[in-house]
Amino acid sequence: MFELIMDFLFPKFCVGCGEYGCDLCKKCFAEMPYSEQICPECGKESMMGWTHSGCKSSRGMDGLIVIYDHQDRVVQKAIEDIKFGFNRVMVREILKGFSFESGEKFDLLVPVPLHFYRENWRGFNQAEEIALAISGKMKVPVKRVLVRNKRTKQQSLLSNRKEREKNVKGVFEVDKEYKSILRGKKILLVDDVFTSGADMRECTKVLKRSGATVVWGLAMAH
Ligand SMILES: [Zn+2]
Ligand SMILES: [Zn+2]
Repeated sequence: MFELIMDFLFPKFCVGCGEYGCDLCKKCFAEMPYSEQICPECGKESMMGWTHSGCKSSRGMDGLIVIYDHQDRVVQKAIEDIKFGFNRVMVREILKGFSFESGEKFDLLVPVPLHFYRENWRGFNQAEEIALAISGKMKVPVKRVLVRNKRTKQQSLLSNRKEREKNVKGVFEVDKEYKSILRGKKILLVDDVFTSGADMRECTKVLKRSGATVVWGLAMAH
């Protein structure tokens, strides 16, 4: 009954084709293209998302898993609906039936934090929602290990990689509560979209400085 009332008050339409009755219809979901896997350090194609051996460094990322191709219109719409429509159901919808293998067994899932200002305004961090959605499948707990400590310009407003790297330098910190538990840990960082990757690379440095041994990233799209 409650659902019927909700449907009546807030009718749902597929973000892809506009079909009435759901956020994303079966057909549009089935057509969402997967991303090719890339090296998180140089952005070029890489088998299974492993960081190229020539791109590896002690404080760098060890690999990256990207799911959908962000060039696709439906993928963009679905992610917008999560990010700006705060649609938790959509997160679960588009991760439905999804499983992956990176060859690593992770100890923690860590969402890339939004600035507290943005997060409080929405009460919603899409990276954390994604982490929570995959936590059960992977049987790996989600911990808010990282905090963002200063306000940055929105990365999407900065055009080149250098500016983006500079913009996030010193932005992330390990929460006091977690400082002592990171030694030797294998961590999967989670975010919605991997664009330049500056945020994830900076988070990785901070985690590895605190003793994490392996850091991979997982992004819903690239
Ligand atoms: Zn549709
Ligand atoms: Zn590379």
